[in-house]
Amino acid sequence: MLPDNILFSADPSNDLLAFLNKKNYSKVVVLTDENTREHCYPALQQKLPDHFVIEVKSGEEQKNLETCVLIWKQLTDYALDRHAVLLVLGGGVLGDMGGFCAATYKRGIDFILIPTTLLAQVDASIGGKLGVDFDHFKNHIGVFQQPALTLLYTGFLKTLPVAELRSGFAEVIKHTLISDKDMWDTIRKKSLQEQDWDGLLKHSVAFKADVTTQDPKEKGLRKILNAGHTIGHAVESYLLASGHRILHGEAIALGLIAEGFIARERNMLSHDDFQSIAAYILAVYGKVDLNEKQIAEAAQLTVQDKKNKGNKILCVLQEGIGRARWDCEINFDEVKEALSFYQ
Ligand code: NAD
Ligand code: ZN
Repeated sequence: MLPDNILFSADPSNDLLAFLNKKNYSKVVVLTDENTREHCYPALQQKLPDHFVIEVKSGEEQKNLETCVLIWKQLTDYALDRHAVLLVLGGGVLGDMGGFCAATYKRGIDFILIPTTLLAQVDASIGGKLGVDFDHFKNHIGVFQQPALTLLYTGFLKTLPVAELRSGFAEVIKHTLISDKDMWDTIRKKSLQEQDWDGLLKHSVAFKADVTTQDPKEKGLRKILNAGHTIGHAVESYLLASGHRILHGEAIALGLIAEGFIARERNMLSHDDFQSIAAYILAVYGKVDLNEKQIAEAAQLTVQDKKNKGNKILCVLQEGIGRARWDCEINFDEVKEALSFYQ
């Protein structure tokens, strides 16, 4: 069962209008970046009641307190009271930051998330985590707060650059690998372009919503959503810090293979299942080349992961396809071996 603040929509402007009419907000403000203003805002604009638009620059490097100050300032200039609503139209960057600004403006006004990237639709807009980066730490300042509504419309994906689609798809693959073998069998028969996004989204969102409702503050079960991220996130951080480019989902795809390899070595995952995972992910994402020095240095970052306890590296490992354990402990040598195998 989906929480009742999540709505799948085939007609976002009408559904949004119906919601706003019910709520009777004092003012409506729309937050966009230059891309979502151009590609997504026109689909809503005409039916929206009287409103203001705030546009910020796109990109993770804008997800900081300086941009929040610009947003808070405009909310103040528009004299928004506590009965206003902020409608956040964008990817995960805007969702996290806009939600945070709304949750803190005058101790919190309502916000509506209208995620426009695949990653934001299946992941960032579900689960109530909001925030911004600070002092080189990702999502360092933030709060947990649920939106009044998350409106999901896959039509927005039509204008999304294919690299961004591929990046978000890694989170769909992750959700599937840890929750539903049948879904995996459906996904792996199709290329990225052939996927049925409506069907996949319903599945992926329901899964994440269920997990985060059971464990909203990540005390236990929610850690299962870190599948692929222990190793993937380390490689992503390492490459970005050394001046390389890699999208989050590309790193998570690599992480799912590497962590799958460790699960296979521990006989938690069969050889055939591992092969099926690795072959499909490599076909969609290609390989990220890493030399021996890079492997050792990226592996070292898994040891420093803030989610660890003491010297143990916490990791989610597959138990077959469609199931996983979130409380496994792995060691540095296993990470190095998995990354070397991947090469
Ligand atoms: P993003 O928000 O930067 O969007 C990617 C790019 O696509 C941007 O340039 C954006 O302007 C553009 N764009 C967005 N929608 C478009 C559309 N429909 N057509 C054309 N262009 C479009 O990146 P993202 O991948 O959506 O989100 C990444 C962020 O999400 C990170 O900051 C990450 O920390 C956060 N995140 C949060 C959670 C959470 O639980 N809150 C979970 C995962 C990720
Ligand atoms: Zn992720």
